[in-house]
Amino acid sequence: MSILVAGGAGFIGAALCAKLLELGHTVICVDSLQTGSAQAVDRLRTFARFTFLHQDIVQPLNAGQLGQVEQVYNLACPASPLHYQQDPVKTIETNVIGTRNLLELARVVRARFLLASTSEVYGSPQRKPQREDYWGNVNTTGPRACYDEGKRCAEALVQAYHTQHQVDIRIARIFNTYGPGMQRDDGRVVSNFVTRILDGDPIEIYGDGHQTRCFCYVDDMVDALIALMSSDCTTPMNLGSDREVSVANLAHLVGQTLEKPIIVRHMPALVDDPQERRPDLEKCFRVLGWRATTSLEAGLLKTSAFFAQTQENIHA
Ligand code: NAD
Ligand code: UDP
Repeated sequence: MSILVAGGAGFIGAALCAKLLELGHTVICVDSLQTGSAQAVDRLRTFARFTFLHQDIVQPLNAGQLGQVEQVYNLACPASPLHYQQDPVKTIETNVIGTRNLLELARVVRARFLLASTSEVYGSPQRKPQREDYWGNVNTTGPRACYDEGKRCAEALVQAYHTQHQVDIRIARIFNTYGPGMQRDDGRVVSNFVTRILDGDPIEIYGDGHQTRCFCYVDDMVDALIALMSSDCTTPMNLGSDREVSVANLAHLVGQTLEKPIIVRHMPALVDDPQERRPDLEKCFRVLGWRATTSLEAGLLKTSAFFAQTQENIHA
């Protein structure tokens, strides 16, 4: 099958491209390299069935140039709050104009389209666990709005293309995902904690550390995305882990797993930082028969081995 992955040079995208190539598919990766890695693309180039197109999805794609495409995964968007807040206008454009450009392509070439949406569509949720029929609680003018509202509009656009143009759609609401392949300067909590604890540097906890997240290992997430794309479910689906840990507990767990001491520096809480996040995963288990299988401890060890290796490469 010929599959286009927008955002295929990013953390999840590169792992998805690698898995699709392993499965024998032809993969066209479209990425602006805003937060993606040229090295990840170079590794994928070892497959003859891989093509890289250095392009911003805010610019229309040329269907003629791309040839046959049967599936489109749209993962293009910076996912770390640090990065998506650097240029909020661009983040909105990527989610709205970029998603529209990819949907147009899917409409013209009659491809199935999967949107990488997010748990952030629930904002600071007032319900737990968050089920797909919860409409969320988002501050439309806060610092996270460019991402949250961008993704909410992207979901609405995807649904509109389904209703109005019969595009075959999938909507994945991805919860926090981590693992090898993250950039050292990504800014998200797992990469920050693992790299700093490995280096013997203090970690920073924003606020009291009681805020919670559920962390899913990247290989599990890639399997879930492929399973959702292969399913016949056109309504939004939560994907992730439902093991809930506080940020303070995560810090201890990383220290314990890596067998390293931790030094904690407390920093002011971030504005609109969601305090509790845990998905209801009943739907993905019922429809896909999917459950994350990598424990947080095992995933942290693999992530730490990856960062230790990249650190060695830097010093070699
Ligand atoms: P990432 O920042 O590592 O990767 C995003 C990729 O998209 C990068 O390669 C970047 O260069 C590319 N990109 C950004 N804007 C672009 C544009 N305008 N045109 C072309 N390429 C562009 O993020 P990630 O963690 O791999 O996340 C991938 C997707 O999954 C994102 O859409 C994100 O919103 C979603 N998601 C991720 C998580 C997570 O925990 N990792 C959670 C929820 C949702
Ligand atoms: N966080 C933290 N220290 C860090 C990075 C993040 O305390 O160095 C906290 C952050 O405030 C949030 C949680 O960890 O409550 C998850 O943050 P991340 O940026 O990884 O993802 P998101 O907030 O988008 O879920």
